[in-house]
Amino acid sequence: MGEYQTHEHDVLVIGAGGAGLRAAIEAAAGGVSVGLVCKSLLGKAHTVMAEGGVAAALANVDDRDSWKVHFADTMRGGQYLNNWRMAELHAQEAPACVRELEAWGALFDRTHDGKILQRNFGGHKYPRLAHVGDRTGLEMIRTLQDHGIHQGIDVHMECTVVTLLKDGDRVVGAFGYDRERGRFRMFKAKAVVLATGGIGRAYKITSNSWEYTGDGHSLAYQAGADLVDMEFVQFHPTGMVWPPSVRGILVTEGVRGEGGILVNKEGKRFMFSDIPENYRSQTADNPEEGWRYVLGDKNARRPPELLTRDHVARCIVREVREGRGSPHGGVFLDIAWIKEKISGAPEHIKKKLPSMYHQFKQLADIDITTTPMEVGPTTHYIMGGVRVDGDTQMSTVPGLFAAGEVAGGLHGANRLGGNSLSDLLVFGRRAGMYAAKFAKENAAGKIHEDQIDSAAKSALSPFDRGPSGENPYQIQRDLQEMMQDLVGIVRREAEIKTAIDKLGGLKSRSEKVGVDGNREYNPGWNTAIDLNNLLTVSEAIARAAVERKESRGGHFREDFPSKSDEFSKFNILIRKGDDGAMQVVRQPIAELRADLKQIIEENK
Ligand SMILES: Cc1cc2nc3c(=O)[nH]c(=O)nc-3n(C[C@H](O)[C@H](O)[C@H](O)COP(=O)(O)OP(=O)(O)OC[C@H]3O[C@@H](n4cnc5c(N)ncnc54)[C@H](O)[C@@H]3O)c2cc1C
Repeated sequence: MGEYQTHEHDVLVIGAGGAGLRAAIEAAAGGVSVGLVCKSLLGKAHTVMAEGGVAAALANVDDRDSWKVHFADTMRGGQYLNNWRMAELHAQEAPACVRELEAWGALFDRTHDGKILQRNFGGHKYPRLAHVGDRTGLEMIRTLQDHGIHQGIDVHMECTVVTLLKDGDRVVGAFGYDRERGRFRMFKAKAVVLATGGIGRAYKITSNSWEYTGDGHSLAYQAGADLVDMEFVQFHPTGMVWPPSVRGILVTEGVRGEGGILVNKEGKRFMFSDIPENYRSQTADNPEEGWRYVLGDKNARRPPELLTRDHVARCIVREVREGRGSPHGGVFLDIAWIKEKISGAPEHIKKKLPSMYHQFKQLADIDITTTPMEVGPTTHYIMGGVRVDGDTQMSTVPGLFAAGEVAGGLHGANRLGGNSLSDLLVFGRRAGMYAAKFAKENAAGKIHEDQIDSAAKSALSPFDRGPSGENPYQIQRDLQEMMQDLVGIVRREAEIKTAIDKLGGLKSRSEKVGVDGNREYNPGWNTAIDLNNLLTVSEAIARAAVERKESRGGHFREDFPSKSDEFSKFNILIRKGDDGAMQVVRQPIAELRADLKQIIEENK
């Protein structure tokens, strides 16, 4: 049982999306040996699905843009709970990271004078998203991968890490299994970077693929790291709602950036009726001004469809609840209407949004150049994650770093679209750099065989129970339904507490989970292993959600519908107590530096 293959690297990166690849490239450039592990084939990470673009204040389309405006937008979007140091570094370093990607071969769409083209997106004051049609993530992964394979990085594909190994306080490696043959692998490393992405599969309706089961969040938590802001889950306002088999698949915000409007079944553009006070001065108050903004008129304000995602999602939920929704429980997103404004609209739409055109044509038999789409909210992103130092990305556990969606802090209570791809580049690079530094400054730690034995025993236990044990798929489905219903877009104390009780029951069932067959590619076994992570992140989300008795960003409490001053002063941390139980801690937010405060004031 305890047999395993051993690999040794100075830096081990877990996850090969944008953050992991960028971290691996930087660590290798630092002169250390690097291993990169991923659950699926290289190039198939979540990042490849990213559509709309990468946010960076290049100021190519509007020269009023700067890192300061990007910083202020990110802080406003995050409702000031952000780790402001991360928001500062992110806004300052994103333009150079995008130019670097271009130098490595990324072919972005172009302005007429040959610069990188930038598009409008929700919550960004100026057009800021560098993009490649609506396939930006594909170009990003392709470029990072092409660059990365020349750096001498050892890639371990189709391998799932199930535990981090520790020597005293410090992380010294990881243990996992290859998904194809089910054999164990031990990775010895001086530093480990987590870049495992999100948690979307904890919910029933999600834009996330099968890989996003919160593994990195859970690995870090079990290793003793703090998680921060776990109550903030982003429900993207526009996922497909019909047919049922494709429910949740993302409809990029780029559709609204290109002029798409949201209407209810009465044909009303309902977003004009609910513009939050803190965005009023930046938002158009009539359709004509909104359209001028789309065309690039610098004197026009952005249309209300481009308000932040949390707000737009809640407005859609309200329309549906009050009986003004579309036939399948969403609202209409209409880009075809722009034919009233420009000639050659169908060709323009196909050029700007090729994936959306094909997605609706193939999956729903709808031509978006002539017909409105039906859309509704879908679980998309988690703002919360491993608590890291803003400069180095090291977690509270020595030797353990985190970057990308698995790390928390940058986005506060709500992430602006496009700020994830830039996050991956900026903080992937920093995590790789500081992990390499840590590896150079620290000798390898000791591997403790008892940790490996216990992880192997636990991983294989579903085979001991066999087919008479609990069905892992059924537990996963029950969990997803429960999280969707009780800890979803609109939350209430009694329901969240019920969810916490039910999580206890699901955990007991998961301890009795059984699988049939053998270790060679066995999806039931893989699901049984993923369950532990899904249950851990779900509990973290629910416990943080009970604690935050206010509504802010991605966290809406019907019983506390307003923002509260008291809750603006701290982040909520989740950590494992000495007794093994989950602890909830209020962490005061560090006072904002005076120069950054001024930037926010100047950009209000
Ligand atoms: C449809 C869609 C469109 C999006 N569009 C945009 C956009 O336009 N702009 C934007 O900024 N953001 C967008 N996002 C969000 C953005 O794509 C993600 O937040 C981002 O790609 C996450 O990158 P990452 O590197 O952190 O992780 P991922 O790209 O999610 O990669 C995670 C990696 O970790 C590996 N992994 C996970 N668990 C384990 C484990 N236990 N062991 C080993 N490996 C593991 C996976 O196999 C994978 O390789 C979009 C998201 C979706 C779903």
